[in-house]
Amino acid sequence: MGLADYGSKRDFARTPEPQPRPASSATGNLFVVHKHAARSLHYDLRLEMGGVLKSWAVPKGPSLDPTQKRLAVQVEDHPLDYADFEGTIPEGQYGGGTVMVWDRGQWFPETDAAPPPPGEPAELLTTAEQALQAGRLRFRLEGQKLRGGWALVRLRDRPGEQAGKNWLLIKERDEAAAGGSAAEITARAPNSVKTGRSLAEIADGAPASPGETRANEAHAGETHANEAHAGEAHAGETHAREMHTSERHAGEEERARRER
Ligand code: MN
Repeated sequence: MGLADYGSKRDFARTPEPQPRPASSATGNLFVVHKHAARSLHYDLRLEMGGVLKSWAVPKGPSLDPTQKRLAVQVEDHPLDYADFEGTIPEGQYGGGTVMVWDRGQWFPETDAAPPPPGEPAELLTTAEQALQAGRLRFRLEGQKLRGGWALVRLRDRPGEQAGKNWLLIKERDEAAAGGSAAEITARAPNSVKTGRSLAEIADGAPASPGETRANEAHAGETHANEAHAGEAHAGETHAREMHTSERHAGEEERARRER
């Protein structure tokens, strides 16, 4: 696969997204979930594998309820540099809209250790790549919001659908699972794990919240796209922003849908 699709869809003179670069390491295991207010709001699950970020767009976002299977449409591989991208893709560009680092951490494939679910074939899948090819990848997430066991299960193709693109993202039953409103982690924890900002604040180029900035110093260098705007925002807008943060937050997703 590689990154050719990623590069061909984007004009790097216009978008602040990172250019495709070969990864220096093919052995890492970072994961990130981007919250992306494009034509419609969705969540992009990305798992580092083979030097790229394997990526799925999840329209409804992840649920902690194992009975809530969420459609996950596989999209083009993204470069590893993309994991820290947070900012705004200009209107008219591919994926135009606001991108938030909604969650991140490490992922661990659970391939040959765990028995398959009842009724499933028992073939040993020794690598994550093999599991992905076979259409059933079980893994554990250690993120700030998403934890415990998860599965990506490929759906059978229907006529007219692109082959092999549609998967389900399913929470496995464990101590990190939840039911009812507690399962709706996207509603309970809507903001960036990188900067503490809401989608609206990212769109406005607001600075990272101070606590979050300190917590994320290890990730310095990630806010290039926003630095110019962050400086402007400091010049008198900060107080107004604080007063309206909760109000904006309430309208955030509705606003995101309007931004087409
Ligand atoms: Mn997206």
